[in-house]
Formats: sequence, structure tokens, C-alpha cells
Amino acid sequence: MPDPNGFLRYNRRLPARRPVPVRITDWREVYPPAGEELIREQATRCMDCGIPFCHDGCPLGNRIPDWNDLVRTGGWDAAVESLHATNNFPEFTGRLCPAPCETACVLGLGGQQPVTIKQVEVEIADAAVARGGLRPRPVPAPTGRSVAVVGSGPAGLAAAQQLARAGHAVTVYERDDAIGGLLRYGIPDFKLEKQHIDRRLAQLTAEGVRFRTGVHVGVDVTAGQLRAEHDAVLLACGALQGRDTPETPGRALRGVHQAMTHLVAANRVVAAAGDGRPALAVLPDGTPIDAAGKHVVIIGGGDTAADCLGVAHRQGAAGVHQLDLYPEPPQDRDAARDPWPTWPWVLRNYPAHEEGGERVFAVAVQEFVDDGTGQVKGVRIAEVTVEKRDGRRVVTVLPGSERELPADLVLLAIGFEGTEEQPLLTQLGVARNARGAVDARPDWQTDADGVFVAGDMHRGASLIVWAIAEGRAAAAAIHAHLGGVGALPTPVDPARQPLAAR
Ligand SMILES: Cc1cc2nc3c(=O)[nH]c(=O)nc-3n(C[C@H](O)[C@H](O)[C@H](O)COP(=O)(O)OP(=O)(O)OC[C@H]3O[C@@H](n4cnc5c(N)ncnc54)[C@H](O)[C@@H]3O)c2cc1C
Ligand code: SF4
Repeated sequence: MPDPNGFLRYNRRLPARRPVPVRITDWREVYPPAGEELIREQATRCMDCGIPFCHDGCPLGNRIPDWNDLVRTGGWDAAVESLHATNNFPEFTGRLCPAPCETACVLGLGGQQPVTIKQVEVEIADAAVARGGLRPRPVPAPTGRSVAVVGSGPAGLAAAQQLARAGHAVTVYERDDAIGGLLRYGIPDFKLEKQHIDRRLAQLTAEGVRFRTGVHVGVDVTAGQLRAEHDAVLLACGALQGRDTPETPGRALRGVHQAMTHLVAANRVVAAAGDGRPALAVLPDGTPIDAAGKHVVIIGGGDTAADCLGVAHRQGAAGVHQLDLYPEPPQDRDAARDPWPTWPWVLRNYPAHEEGGERVFAVAVQEFVDDGTGQVKGVRIAEVTVEKRDGRRVVTVLPGSERELPADLVLLAIGFEGTEEQPLLTQLGVARNARGAVDARPDWQTDADGVFVAGDMHRGASLIVWAIAEGRAAAAAIHAHLGGVGALPTPVDPARQPLAAR
């Protein structure tokens, strides 16, 4: 029985972030641990709704009211158990998820602020580590069937853990030198320190999952070899084809890069430095791609752009502008446009935005300006309006609104165009659809029999929570395909979409 007055007694409160002047001198996470008192207070605000809409916001179907009440009453071990029943990696989602569960929380309906679900989640996840570590689950007798997972992001890892726990022999193939997908070298340490990934890998390894890094499937080993060696294959290769702007004059200048080029280089030097202060970031050919002392312009308004902003400040940028094509969103939900409990279009301030830089809305880049030597020295922008006509985006420049921003480093964070076209797909005879994604049948199989797909590769660039949900569901389908005993949990089907107003 929850506290019937909890939400009346307590307001929503988040833990204080580490002070900006301190945190931009290191790469540690922005949030310190919240402390048990605050988390129990916040969990007390949960009403244990008869119809808990937080469930509908979360593709994993997390049992949110159950673990809120367990935290309120100090039942941490049971909370850890309940959370892990639906989510393999709550320490990732608790830190990184934009929390569609919170925008769907019933408290948001009556003018109250939603429960801090994500904060409760991360504290339970960390409690699991503090209270005896992430113990491996006992593995059942081997089924004698084997599965290859291609790609080691959250989708591949969730599927691998589910399948290994069902007794199958699982090998994860990753072309990078370390496991984790975008969590490893895409997302900076100030959002996710990498020991969280390493702890999970130790657990998965103890549960029998084999990892093979530095193996580019389709190049180092063919798809045919993989199919011959395994009874099923899961593709979880992400959606890493960065959108570009080749038609913009000056795109080929030195200093204009894809955001991921910068993020991966920066995260690699942090990884190499351990706890020490990292050296300047460079590309594999030795070209520096560091923001130190530079005027940086970031183009784009999402997660990737905010991550570039935080990295630029930690590298010591002289100044940063972040450009967005769209007008500044409202502070609060526009109920006519995005009624509760759907995901609203509102201004999202990431912790990186507190750290400096200027956001410029409703502008489009007209030209990257040459300093005369082939190096970018500025970005010429113009104010624009954006409208949808016949389902297409139409951008109109306001005459006379052009101006130039100084820029030594320009980062394109304008989205992703789906999964990369790569030899693996050709070898399998699997095509990308119009969105650049790979279609799945209702049982998660691609057009190639016995080859399944999950995560961003199927959904297009999305969220960690969706990648885990799809990885779990695809694992259930593979288990059934292999004639496994019983059924594994299936939180989503391939057609499932986020909550939307119809
Ligand atoms: C900069 C950035 C920040 C983000 N921040 C957030 C956030 O804060 N919160 C959030 O919820 N989501 C965030 N996302 C999105 C999130 O990271 C992705 O939705 C998620 O990682 C997708 O998981 P996945 O397992 O499908 O693929 P990925 O994580 O992309 O992993 C795919 C893996 O497959 C490997 N691979 C590809 N082809 C092959 C091959 N042929 N052989 C072997 N290996 C191969 C790749 O090297 C990669 O490691 C962010 C994305 C980016 C780019
Ligand atoms: S919708 Fe909000 S208040 Fe209701 S059960 Fe979920 S978290 Fe608790």
C-alpha cells in the first residue's frame, strides 16, 4: 500500500549536479549519488496508480510503481530483483534515458510534477552493485544451440544475456576494439563512466557469453561462415550512417567534421588516459580534432549535439555556438499539440547547456567560410522558417538576415540516415528500406531465414531503452526459433511505436 499523501507532502526534487566550474575540469559523471533519504522521499510521491501510465511510456514495461514502493519502504534487494525482471541494464537507462515514463506519469496530469522515476531507477541499479555486485545468474544446462550476435551495443548485449540465460551458446562479434556500441566511444564519460559497461561485461562473461572484438563481420569473417557456424544470427549493427550536408558550400574545408568523428576521438583519449588528464584528441591519421582554444560551431539540437557541447567545454573551447533549424520550443507541454501522456515538444536543457555556449534557434547554414588556406574560419547563417508542406519540410530563408559566426571547428550533428550499407548486408541479401533501416517480420527475422535484427538497425537511430527492449524481444523470437523450452519475455513487437496522439 503506497503512501496516499506522498505527492502532496513532497515536491519533485532532483539531486544537485556537480558544480559547473569543477565538472568541466574532468570527465566524471555530472550527477553524484543522490543519497538514500532523497530517493526514498521521491519514491514516496508515487501513487501506485490503478492504471499506471508510466508503464505505457516505457517500452520495457518496467514495474515502476512496484519498485517505487519497495524503495519507499527500504526493500532494496526486492527492488533490485523487480527492476532486473524487465531491464538487463538499468544502470544505462537510469543514467541516459530521456524517460518517456516520466512524461507519461499520471502526476503530470493535474499540474503536479512527475515522479523522478529515472533517478529512482539509477539508485536501485547502483544499489545492486553496492550490495554484493552484479552476480551472474546460474546458467541452465546447455541446449546445444548457438547464436551469433553482430554488434555489441545495448541491443546486442541485452539479446546475448537473455539467450545465454536460456542455455544457448552466444558469441558477440564487434568490429571495434572494445565492447559497448555507442555506449563505449559515442557517449562521453560525463554521461556514462565506462566502469558500468565493464561490470556488465564481467557478468555476461561469467554467464557464458563469448566476446570477439576487432572482427568486422562481412570483412574479417563472411556472413556465410557465421551462418554455417551458428544456428541463428542476430544483426544489431546500429544506425551509424551520419547525415551530411554535401551541398553546402565549403563542406570540404578542413575543420568541418561529422560530430561522431569528434566524439569518438575525444572518448578514445579519455579511455586511454584512465583517471589522468587526457592528451589532445586526434584522428587515426594524426590530424588534431580537439576543441582546445577554438571557436566551435555545432549544427544540430539533439543528444549528439549536446554531447559535443560538453566535450568542447572540457577540451577548453574558446567559445561554442549550437545551431538549430527549428524555433525555440516552449518551456511547457502544449496540450493541444502533444496531449499527456505523449512525449512533448519542449525545450530540453541538458546538463551540458549549463556549462556555457550559446544556442541559436531558427537558423540554417548558408556556407562554411574559407580562411584562404582551405581551413574553415566561419559559418555564414541565415534566419529561417520551417513548415511542412505535403509531408515535406520546406525551409524559407528570411532575406537580409545573414550573419557570420567565427568557427575553427564545425561539427555536424544533424542526425543519422539509418544503418550503414556494408558487405554484411550484401552477403546476406538483406536490403535497407527507405529509412535506411532493416525490416523485420513479426518474428524479428529479416528476409534471410534464421537471421534476425534488433535495435537501431531495425528502428533507425533511437534510444537505449528501445534497443534493450528490442534485444530482449528478438532473443525471445530466436529462442522460439531454436525450439527452446518455455518462452522468454517479449516487451515489444517489431511494429510497436512510442505513445502518440492519433
Ligand atoms: C552521441 C550519441 C549520444 C546518445 N545519447 C543517448 C542518450 O543519452 N540516451 C539514449 O537513450 N540514447 C542515446 N543515444 C542513442 C543510443 O546510443 C542508441 O539508440 C543505442 O546505442 C542503439 O543501440 P544498438 O545496440 O542498436 O546499436 P549501437 O549502440 O550503435 O551498436 C552497434 C554496434 O555494432 C557494431 N557493428 C556494426 N557493424 C558491424 C559489423 N559488420 N561487424 C561487427 N560489428 C559491427 C558497431 O561497431 C557498434 O559497436 C545516443 C546516440 C549518440 C550517437
Ligand atoms: S504513473 Fe506516476 S504516480 Fe502513477 S504509478 Fe507510475 S510513477 Fe507512480
